[in-house]
Amino acid sequence: MVCRSARAKADLLRIAKPEGSAICFDIDHSSEGRGAYLCPDKKCLAKAHKTDALSKALKKKVPETVYLALARHLASVSEDDSPEKLLGFALRSRTALLGSTAVEQGLKRGKVRLVVLDRSTAEATQDRMGRLCKALARPLRLWQGEKAVSDITGKANCRIIGITDASIALTLSRQLKSRI
Ligand SMILES: [Zn+2]
Repeated sequence: MVCRSARAKADLLRIAKPEGSAICFDIDHSSEGRGAYLCPDKKCLAKAHKTDALSKALKKKVPETVYLALARHLASVSEDDSPEKLLGFALRSRTALLGSTAVEQGLKRGKVRLVVLDRSTAEATQDRMGRLCKALARPLRLWQGEKAVSDITGKANCRIIGITDASIALTLSRQLKSRI
């Protein structure tokens, strides 16, 4: 870990050094190889850039393009963004899994960092997701936007979304209420 953060690895940005290929910003924590972790925070990135902490952590020169990709990513996700905007960004950047089957699989593979349920989700499904998220220590939130989840995703029966991007998940989970 590059900075002394108490956050879980799942909540951090991952920079990967896959065997035999270039160092990359591993947006959905799916890349193999050694990883370095950074808070989803502009100040932490600036500090890491200045000291080139990522290169030190990975024991290989991290190209400027990786720092640039991280900066772009953090610039695109802001605490002031509305939940609709964040969800839209997750969909465009393909860091959202849609529907209960995809979300459950993503959770079990450790890729999903936040589960968002539309209010119209059947009680039994909410309970099942609740148990799964609890067992895997992942946050579960109820969607409170004016538009339903299905309207934002454009999929009529989509009520469940799994966010795989660490910074979008962290920001959205702070904005949305926990399902109790
Ligand atoms: Zn940090």
